[in-house]
Amino acid sequence: MSNLLKLKEKLESLIGKYYVLSSPVDLAVYDSDGETLDKALPDLVVLPATTDEVQEVIKLANEYNIPFTPRGAGTGLSGGATTVMGGISLVLTRMNRVLEIDPVNMLAHVEVGATNLSVSEAALPYNLYFAPDPSSQMASTIGGNIAENAGGAHTLKYGLTENNVLGLKVILPDGNIVQFAGKTRTHLGVDFAGLFIGSEGTLGIAVEAYLRLIPRASKVETMIAYFETLEAGGQTVSDIVAHGVIPAAMEMIDKLTLKCVEDSLHLGLDINAGAMLIIELDGNAIEIAEAKEIVENCVRKNGVLSIKWAENSKERQKIWKARKSSFGALGRIAPHGYVLDGVIPRSKLKEAISKIRRIGEEHNIQIANVYHAGDGNLHPCLLYNRDDHNQVRRVLLAAHEILELCVSLGGTLSGEHGIGVEKLREMSFAFNEDELEAMRQLRSVFNPKNLCNPGKVVPQPKSCGESGMRPLLRHKLSELS
Ligand SMILES: Cc1cc2nc3c(=O)[nH]c(=O)nc-3n(C[C@H](O)[C@H](O)[C@H](O)COP(=O)(O)OP(=O)(O)OC[C@H]3O[C@@H](n4cnc5c(N)ncnc54)[C@H](O)[C@@H]3O)c2cc1C
Repeated sequence: MSNLLKLKEKLESLIGKYYVLSSPVDLAVYDSDGETLDKALPDLVVLPATTDEVQEVIKLANEYNIPFTPRGAGTGLSGGATTVMGGISLVLTRMNRVLEIDPVNMLAHVEVGATNLSVSEAALPYNLYFAPDPSSQMASTIGGNIAENAGGAHTLKYGLTENNVLGLKVILPDGNIVQFAGKTRTHLGVDFAGLFIGSEGTLGIAVEAYLRLIPRASKVETMIAYFETLEAGGQTVSDIVAHGVIPAAMEMIDKLTLKCVEDSLHLGLDINAGAMLIIELDGNAIEIAEAKEIVENCVRKNGVLSIKWAENSKERQKIWKARKSSFGALGRIAPHGYVLDGVIPRSKLKEAISKIRRIGEEHNIQIANVYHAGDGNLHPCLLYNRDDHNQVRRVLLAAHEILELCVSLGGTLSGEHGIGVEKLREMSFAFNEDELEAMRQLRSVFNPKNLCNPGKVVPQPKSCGESGMRPLLRHKLSELS
C-alpha cells in the first residue's frame, strides 16, 4: 500500500471519513485559491475541527513525509493556499468559533476559521469591531488574514492585520504547539507574533488568535466624488493627505469597473465619469466638519465633476456595496481577472496610473483599476481568458512589468495579498540574494523539512520554479520559464 493510502486511512480513523476528501471531483474544488492562473491538485483534503486534530494531522504528515498546506476560505489572491507540491490541503474552516468577546480589554479570542466579518458581528453588541476589513470579509478567515497580513479599505487609518492582532496559538510544522503573546502583545525578546503574521502559512499553522477590537466611531460621513480621469482622483488623494487629513478610507475605481458594477447592481452610479473616489471620514462632529471642508476644497481643486455625501446609513452601505462588488462585477466582461496589489508611495499615484495604462496598451491587455488609493495600494485587474495561452503570456508579462514599476517608483510588490507562488519570480526586484537567503534560513528554523506550505514566498536560488513543483501554467509558457 502506498504511503498516501496508509496516511489516508489513518486520517480517516482520526477525524472521520466525511472530512478526508480524495475523489477527483472533491479535489478539484481545492485546486487553487482566488488566483486561478496557478492550479495544482492536492492529493488529499483534510478538514479537522479541533486543535488536537490539526496537531495529529501534522504529526502524521511528518511521519509520512507528505507536504501540508493550510487553507482558510481560499479567497487568497497569490496562490498561497494552492498545493503546488501536492500533499494535504489542510482546511481550517470548521474551526470557526468566536470563543470570547472581552469588552473590558477590548479583544476577541477566536478560532482561526472564523470569518473576518463574524468577529465584528460578534463584537457589535459592545459597539466594538475588528478594524481590518478586506473586501472578502464575508468569506475570508482570520487565519488567512493573519497569514497574508490582510488589509482593507480602512487600513489607511487603522492599520493592517499585524496592527490589530495581540497574540496567537500556533502549531509548528513539527506538530509542537506554541503561544506567541496572548491577551497583550508582548514586546519582550523576539516578537514571534510579528514574525508569524504575513508569513503566508510557511512557519506553522495558527489555530487561535487574540484580536484587538476598537470602538465604533460616533460619527461617520461617506462621500462619492466623480472625476474626468483617474489621474485627477489620484492627485486629490495625495492633496488630502498633504493637508493633514487621514480619512478612514479613500478608495478609487475606474470607468470600466464603474460600468460593470452599475450594470450588475443598478445603484445609480455615474458611468460617464472616468473615476469614482470614495472618501470616508470618521470621528467626532468637530473633527469631521474640519476634515470635510479640506476634502471638499481638494476635490474641487482637481476639477471634480460631482460630489455626493451619503445622507444615511443605507446610502453609505450602497456606496460600500459598489466598492466591495467591484472584482466580482468584472466577471461580466472577462472570464478571468488577475488582480495585482503592488504598492507605491502615494505621491506617485498619478504617475503609476498613467504608466500602468501604457503597459496594458503595449501588451494589448484590458486592465480594470480599483485602488486602496489612500495607502498607495494599487489593484490593477488584468482581464483575460485562461484558455487563450497567448493572452495569458501577455498578462504575465504585463503583470511582471507592473510589479517592476511599483518597486522602481519606491514601492513594493504586495500591500496585502502576499507573494504566494504568484510573485516568486518578482521577489528579486525587491530583495537581493543575501536578503532572500536570510529568509530561507529563517524559514528552515521553523520549517526544517519544508513540509509546511512548500514552494511559496521565497524563491529557490537561480530558479523560477522549485524542484518538485507541479507544472503550473505560468511555467509552461516558455518566455517566462
Ligand atoms: C473579491 C476579493 C476581494 C479581496 N479583497 C481583499 C482586500 O481588500 N484586502 C486583502 O488583504 N485581501 C483581499 N483579498 C484576498 C484574500 O481575501 C485575503 O488574502 C484573505 O486574507 C485570505 O483569507 P482566506 O481565509 O481566504 O485564506 P486562504 O486563501 O485560504 O489562504 C491564504 C494564505 O493563508 C494561509 N493560511 C490560511 N489559514 C492559515 C492558518 N490558520 N495558519 C497559517 N496559514 C494559514 C494559506 O496557506 C495561504 O498561504 C480579496 C480576495 C477576493 C477574492
